[in-house]
Amino acid sequence: LISVKHLKKDFGGNEVLKDINGDIDAGQVVCIIGPSGSGKSTLLRCINQMERPTSGVVDFNGVDLAQQSDQELAKLGEQIGMVFQSFNLFPNMSVVANLKLAPMRVKGMSDEEATAVAMKYLTSVGLADKADAFPNSLSGGQKQRVAIARALAMQPKVLFFDEPTSALDPENVGEVLKVMQSLADGNMTMVVVTHEMHFAKQVADEIWFMADGVIQEKNTPAELFDHPQNPKTQDFISKVL
Ligand code: ATP
Ligand code: MG
Repeated sequence: LISVKHLKKDFGGNEVLKDINGDIDAGQVVCIIGPSGSGKSTLLRCINQMERPTSGVVDFNGVDLAQQSDQELAKLGEQIGMVFQSFNLFPNMSVVANLKLAPMRVKGMSDEEATAVAMKYLTSVGLADKADAFPNSLSGGQKQRVAIARALAMQPKVLFFDEPTSALDPENVGEVLKVMQSLADGNMTMVVVTHEMHFAKQVADEIWFMADGVIQEKNTPAELFDHPQNPKTQDFISKVL
């Protein structure tokens, strides 16, 4: 579904991504792990073109996103959902209005159709009863489940997560990981930057370990966690497991 080739990104001479290569197949869950500042968020943002890469190819369904105009990207971008650490819900709108906004504005859905879609995905994350609540009245875990439902309401081909549980109180982490696990079970294509090693081990088809702007090692969770080959991976794993 996605093929990244020789992706590079620098910020004013600071080389943050150095020759990144990797494939994400439809239905696959890829978890990206690595130390702070290694370029994980930048990689996600360069794949979905929130940040324009300095060079390289990001093939999405046969189209090189890096070569598209902003206008063409806006269209293709609908197929890539994003869930952030900080939820990014609209605080002045009810939960259901948060979910309906993009399907109505971007996809031109009717109010009725968007409500039906919104309720379907709120139900899937267990929050149908919060449709008329405002984000501020929800727990962090509930906010993040709403953010996931909002991304799903656009029916994306792939969902990106950037540390979706890092801002949560510990007691709220499980409910969000559970929703993500069920998406994975339903064959959703997902790219997840995470510090939740247990989740990565359980759910990922492949783990990419990043350090210093490079994917140092890429493997199945069983291999990468139990038999890391690269000394940098070994060092990281020994600290986080
Ligand atoms: P963390 O685990 O802390 O989230 P990360 O692996 O996601 O870290 P990035 O946020 O991708 O790391 O940052 C990698 C490097 O790129 C950092 O040195 C950061 O300062 C730099 N960087 C990221 N975004 C920008 C930007 N917009 N302008 C300049 N430098 C940036
Ligand atoms: Mg980050």
